[in-house]
Amino acid sequence: MISVEDALRRVLALASPVGTETVALRNAAGRVLAADAVARRDQPPFAASAMDGYAICGDTPPAAGAGLRILGEAAAGRRFAGRVGPGEAVRILTGAPMPEGADRIVIQEDADRQGDRLLPRAWPEAGANLRPACGDFQAGFRVAAPRRLGPADVALLAAMNLPELTVFRRPVVALFATGDELVMPGEDPGPDQIVASNSFALKALAEAEGAEVRMLPIARDTAGSLRAAFALAEGADVIVTSGGASVGDHDLVAPVAAELGMERAFYKVAMRPGKPLMAGRLGPAVMLGLPGNPVSAVVTAMLFLVPLLRALQGLPADHPQRLRARLGAAVGANGPRAHYMRATLRHAGRGLPEIMPVASQDSSLLRLLAEADALLVRPVGDGPRPAGDEVDYLPLRS
Ligand code: AMP
Ligand code: MG
Repeated sequence: MISVEDALRRVLALASPVGTETVALRNAAGRVLAADAVARRDQPPFAASAMDGYAICGDTPPAAGAGLRILGEAAAGRRFAGRVGPGEAVRILTGAPMPEGADRIVIQEDADRQGDRLLPRAWPEAGANLRPACGDFQAGFRVAAPRRLGPADVALLAAMNLPELTVFRRPVVALFATGDELVMPGEDPGPDQIVASNSFALKALAEAEGAEVRMLPIARDTAGSLRAAFALAEGADVIVTSGGASVGDHDLVAPVAAELGMERAFYKVAMRPGKPLMAGRLGPAVMLGLPGNPVSAVVTAMLFLVPLLRALQGLPADHPQRLRARLGAAVGANGPRAHYMRATLRHAGRGLPEIMPVASQDSSLLRLLAEADALLVRPVGDGPRPAGDEVDYLPLRS
């Protein structure tokens, strides 16, 4: 049995980044940039007004009552063709290029207009209410790869005038559940059957990391059915199984994978839930054999599948980031396996949230997992802890 940290290192050692492809900017959110993106132009490309008002120049306001002569208008997309000098003003709207000669904007709330005369009630400093050219970025500015592109990134890349981007291809994940007792949701379970749930959580987790998921039919607990499922998984970058990974008479995933040539990196990890977890290489694919118990499948996928998918897309990969909370109740000593306890969080005012393990840590209970906010992380051999102690947790929802 190896530690969670060692297991993750071995999983990541199996991963090399997938290839790249070009995508339209509109489809780039959520993808990982694979080559630096370089701005094709300055933004803004010209000094522009930040407000609706009047473009004026110089440090000296007109004599009381004299006012300025309004020469014309500059609107967004339509500059004023002439020049502004002392004693003159140009009506200007937000986003319009600054007229030549103008060096500041008096906002319309601070000026009275009488026909073509402007009587400013305030005289702003040079540079007031305008956006300098290149104030956002200059041509040649780079967004560095690798980077997972969020909403703000794609807007920035649009402003950089980049209609297409080079991103990592979506890793293809083939998923299958194993077990004679399983039927798909909506089917009619026999008297000894249950509805398969694991693949749905695994698909959601993988898709949230940018993977393309192939959900394969349930494999039965026979070597032939498992071989058929592995054959259907061919071509995937990652093959994820759930169930059949222990050492029971009907747990055939390990022997069938071995027969198909799986080079095993490890089998069994010192963690709770999720001890029977295997990883290795099966031809060109990375294989993760997850436990069947629903909570174990989800927790092991969070800890190993998620970082693996990041690594395949060229991102720095590590365990999901842990946060800190205070125990809401005392907990007993932990044993020789890291324990990821389902827990609820309570945010009371300022300071760290309070964390409470849920009543049962049985790894078959999906309802408690769905109701939990966090996994309270108990390290190997951690002693008993009183209420109020600071502990690590992994958030289960954002
Ligand atoms: P196994 O690892 O195959 O021994 O499965 C452990 C437990 O998880 C058993 O109670 C199975 O019925 C259950 N189980 C296995 N696969 C699934 C699945 N896809 N959905 C829900 N429960 C499962
Ligand atoms: Mg089974």
